[in-house]
Amino acid sequence: MDADYNLVVRRLSEAGQKAEAGFYIHYPFCRQKCSYCHFSSSVYERELHLKWLAAIKEEIRRAASFFSDYLIIDTVYFGGGTPSLLTPDEVKCLLDWVRENFEVRLQEATIEVTPAAEAGRIGDWLQAGINRLSVGAQSFDPEVLRVLGRAYEPEKIVSLLEGARRAGGDNIGLDLMVGVPGESFKTIEVNLKALSELQPEHVSVYLLEELDKVPFQRVWEKSPVSEEAAAETYERYRLGLEEAGWLQYEISNFSKPGFQCRHNLKYWKYQPFLGVGPSASSHLGNFRWTNPSGLEDWWSALCSGKPNFDEFIRLSPEEAVRECLASGLRLREGISLAELVSRFPGVDLSGYETRLTGLKDYGLLQVSDGLVRIPTERFLVSNSIISELLF
Ligand code: SF4
Repeated sequence: MDADYNLVVRRLSEAGQKAEAGFYIHYPFCRQKCSYCHFSSSVYERELHLKWLAAIKEEIRRAASFFSDYLIIDTVYFGGGTPSLLTPDEVKCLLDWVRENFEVRLQEATIEVTPAAEAGRIGDWLQAGINRLSVGAQSFDPEVLRVLGRAYEPEKIVSLLEGARRAGGDNIGLDLMVGVPGESFKTIEVNLKALSELQPEHVSVYLLEELDKVPFQRVWEKSPVSEEAAAETYERYRLGLEEAGWLQYEISNFSKPGFQCRHNLKYWKYQPFLGVGPSASSHLGNFRWTNPSGLEDWWSALCSGKPNFDEFIRLSPEEAVRECLASGLRLREGISLAELVSRFPGVDLSGYETRLTGLKDYGLLQVSDGLVRIPTERFLVSNSIISELLF
């Protein structure tokens, strides 16, 4: 691990100044495992939770011993798993620990919250330094919640949001899952109505990804959701949300003005971020790496100090350009060609020009004011457009 980190340090030291970076903390436990979930998480046990707390502090300390001279942390994101299982004191302790180990100028500190969380904790999380809540509502349709196996009723989401407002929460994101077997056009109406009543500052709409090897496969076999149906559903949300005042700024994300998620923008804008915890990814300089996803593998890598990443990649400038384009084109604003040239001097971009012109002629890309973007009405086929441009 240390040898790999030293390579990154060498690269960061060439920059000559500190970079603003996001900090991601992966909390790997949930009350129960959802049958459709492929994230790195396991069922909460108090002993494992405490072991994680001690280990994550050690990982933060160790990462800081390499990188703190080169980074200024300006966003922190507690993701998971179900990080709302962390008590406000634990959240405060971790934020303080990040501050003790890095230079921090925090603009945004997010915690993902399950609707099943105790509303009473929210005020304390805010006191602890959290200023953004990301609530994994999934749906306000009880039938969809039942199919997903979520252990709460729509009323619980409403009461949590009302509690969050009373506690002073003024930057709340709400996640919806669409393309779920059993959803109907009524589901869309119910969800849009609930959103217009609750007025969260941010909305994410994720298509349920059909995966092999998850227990939910049985549900898909019984009630398949066609690509066309999922696409139509996504499009209805896209238009409905925009009409109701949430501006789409990324393929799956919508916000009121000024409430885009700063932390997640770092991923799409290809800016530096450091991740700690099992399965967490990092991107600093021209390196990208991912921690082991299993708890035991992550612990033993930390304890031994031996390299045990699931992935550790030194990107060539050409590879970095491709990644930068692929992530930047997810944004409505697109990506600046001039910025691409200045970030990756010496990389020959002429190869992209012909493909770019072809895609533009088909109306699949727009180029104006030096920005390349995918038209929002084509976001549904963005993966194909990006592949066409890059490969
Ligand atoms: S709560 Fe989220 S992270 Fe946990 S098992 Fe369910 S979907 Fe996965």
